[in-house]
Amino acid sequence: MRTEDIMFSLVSMIDRPSPRGDVIHTTDITSCLRFAYKQRKKLLPTNIKMFIGSAVHSYFQSIVKAKSIEPELSFTYRGIKIVGHPDLLTYDGKVIELKHISTFYLLDKYCNGSPIPRHIDQLLMYMIMSGVNTSYLIYMSIREGFRVYEVRCRDLFIDNIYKRARELREALKNNEEPPPEPSFFCSRCVFRHECNPEETHDFLPQLIKFNGSINRRTKYENMLTDYIIDYTERIRTFYKYLPITEQPERSMYIFYSDSVLKRLLTEVSDTIFNYKVRLDGENHYFPCYKRPDRKTFNIIVPFVASTTRESLEDFVIEMIRRSNILETIGRNRLFVARFSIDGTLRLFCLT
Ligand code: SF4
Repeated sequence: MRTEDIMFSLVSMIDRPSPRGDVIHTTDITSCLRFAYKQRKKLLPTNIKMFIGSAVHSYFQSIVKAKSIEPELSFTYRGIKIVGHPDLLTYDGKVIELKHISTFYLLDKYCNGSPIPRHIDQLLMYMIMSGVNTSYLIYMSIREGFRVYEVRCRDLFIDNIYKRARELREALKNNEEPPPEPSFFCSRCVFRHECNPEETHDFLPQLIKFNGSINRRTKYENMLTDYIIDYTERIRTFYKYLPITEQPERSMYIFYSDSVLKRLLTEVSDTIFNYKVRLDGENHYFPCYKRPDRKTFNIIVPFVASTTRESLEDFVIEMIRRSNILETIGRNRLFVARFSIDGTLRLFCLT
């Protein structure tokens, strides 16, 4: 019963609503308009998948040197103000957007190796807002590393943006749900049970016609991979011993797990705080959950797994058994939280 209690609290802490106000955002326009409408009206909660994505985003931003992180940009077109927050704006004036993807196969199979159309639209809008003419779209995959696209443009035709922004604004004003826009995104959409959309593998069509080019930049892909390997080599936790043979893949797992750990420690709630643990002669800090009605606390060790690697959880539990955490706090107070990139969360108690 105690595991269920903690699980429930953990999920409610993560599943907090994210109000968006009245402003039209770039992501509203590039997603299904019905989704954007429902998100506004129902205060869509974040889900586990979004939580992992956002944790990895913040972690990545904090270690990459950039002029500003999530700068607010905006432009007004025919009386409608559209706001956007690209992930990074670099010192040399480049816009960088990070996207999580389960596998690059999706890009190869459904987009002929190019980026997803709505992501190109998002970057193009950021370029209009910031006045830059080169930007980078970085796809991160826990299993496959990085894929980087450089997007350059000269002329943009943006009438469709205005049309969709106006449609959404009118729908919100009149409380009228826009029609569904079935796409690949529906299978992952939290409203799919209300919509019952037709199944499709197509993405929403690209909105902005642009005169430019999209190139894959393997130079940057290798650079980012080296950077993550180098960074995770310096993180001293038992994550380092995860049994994955490929070095880049192992480093990505460590990077994702450490991101979730840090996000839980710093941003989730006051009921989670740091607990210092000595491992290999060094201090490490793990999220510690304290129930409001009790004086005792429980340590949560999060790790991120891909859907196909169930065996990782046994290994993480084994590593904890070998460490001195159990001796220090007792086994019935230590929980392993398995965050899966498919959006599920499982909790194990080491009793
Ligand atoms: S299920 Fe599809 S059509 Fe319905 S709101 Fe979600 S994305 Fe839009």
